[in-house]
Amino acid sequence: MFAFDNSYARLPDRFYTKMAPTPVAAPAWVALNEGLAAEMGLDAAALRAAPQVFAGNAVPEGADPLAQLYAGHQFGGWSPQLGDGRAILLGEHVAGDRRWDVQLKGSGPTPYSRMGDGRAALGPVIREYLVSEAMHALGVPTTRALAAVTTGETVLRQEGPLPGGVLTRVAASHIRVGTFQVFAARDDADALRRLLDHAIARHAPGAEGPMGLLRHVMRAQAKLVAQWMGLGFIHGVMNTDNMTISGETIDYGPCAFMEAYHPDTVFSSIDQFGRYAWKAQPDIALWNLAQLATALLPLMGERAQAVEEATEVLEGFRDLYAEAWTEVMAAKIGLDDMELAMELLAIMAEGQGDFTNTFRALTLAPETARDQVTNRERMDDWVARWQSKGPDRAAMRRANPAVIPRNHRVEEAISAAYAGDFAPFHALHAVLADPWQETETNAPYRRPAEPGEAVTRTFC
Ligand code: AMP
Ligand code: MG
Ligand code: MG
Repeated sequence: MFAFDNSYARLPDRFYTKMAPTPVAAPAWVALNEGLAAEMGLDAAALRAAPQVFAGNAVPEGADPLAQLYAGHQFGGWSPQLGDGRAILLGEHVAGDRRWDVQLKGSGPTPYSRMGDGRAALGPVIREYLVSEAMHALGVPTTRALAAVTTGETVLRQEGPLPGGVLTRVAASHIRVGTFQVFAARDDADALRRLLDHAIARHAPGAEGPMGLLRHVMRAQAKLVAQWMGLGFIHGVMNTDNMTISGETIDYGPCAFMEAYHPDTVFSSIDQFGRYAWKAQPDIALWNLAQLATALLPLMGERAQAVEEATEVLEGFRDLYAEAWTEVMAAKIGLDDMELAMELLAIMAEGQGDFTNTFRALTLAPETARDQVTNRERMDDWVARWQSKGPDRAAMRRANPAVIPRNHRVEEAISAAYAGDFAPFHALHAVLADPWQETETNAPYRRPAEPGEAVTRTFC
């Protein structure tokens, strides 16, 4: 079924706990991502015939299942041991020159579960499936969703008993900043060295040593976060265990796309102080990268000099990010003029412009941008000055999507799924696969939430 070559499982024992997923009562399909299966060179019919594999009831040939160890800073506070508390890495599927981690999420308790049940409710499985696939269609590096199943079991959450689900997540790897942190915290330089070699071979071939990897991850994260910012995406839980070395977006918990633009926007119910607000994301990325640098210090030679060098490298993040952000905004307004772009954002913030639809209006029919905001005269004035500079509106079509996963639509798909109706999920998934043009089908999905529908809080 898969062509597994499990390089992570060949790392020393202390990197993981080898164990199989815990079987569930009654696996049933929610979705198989046939497009992704094709990209991975997998036979969709064979996958379709084996829902038990995607529920954790059968371990496919060649798998070497394990739960990965990691640590992390959660909301700035240090957690010395996290790890896959509800996930099992089946193995690494190899096709051509590509290698994908295939991981089950919601697959039962592990030694890293702490107080958790090791399971996932169907709602979050559906959210991750929809949003990660939408991000991919929008051109953002991300983990992918290969499959989703229901378990026939109930999980207990704050909302009460809910149907359970298992997501099959596919990623370039699941190595996190927190994977380096756990070994640094344990003074395990040998493990750090092995993890460094492994990460370089997988994600940064040619990078030289710890400083080379740090620079590579900094570049990837600067670009990634700039892309998030340009789509109004708020990750919501940018803990160091949720930042990958590969530069893929990971962990779609309380994430959300902004509708009315405001830089202070926060959705996550657990983000009381706005640590992970839209505007804070670049700074948090740098904070997390500083934790990566700190974890790599033991591999960087004499300490005082290493600290000095690493600090200097980290100082380069501001420029890396500014460059990536300038590129994103230049594409969005069809002009390389950051001052004008920032002025537009200020007008949108004041006038509550829908982040997606205001840019799309500028792309397709600039004279209608005024209808997206309450401060119409300011917008008219901006549009006139912008148009006089001759923006490249054809290029803007590929930078400003017509459709994003609006929160009320995602919630609607989740509620319907809980009631046993997967039609809204499939409809939304189909619409999000083609975000770059207006169609009759996607018209209702382009509309922002009405006041009564608006989702202002998200939950993990
Ligand atoms: P997250 O906030 O999603 O990044 O998760 C942080 C940690 O909590 C990770 O170690 C997860 O594996 C663990 N975790 C989250 N939910 C559960 C659960 N239901 N059961 C066990 N562990 C969990
Ligand atoms: Mg996580
Ligand atoms: Mg999570």
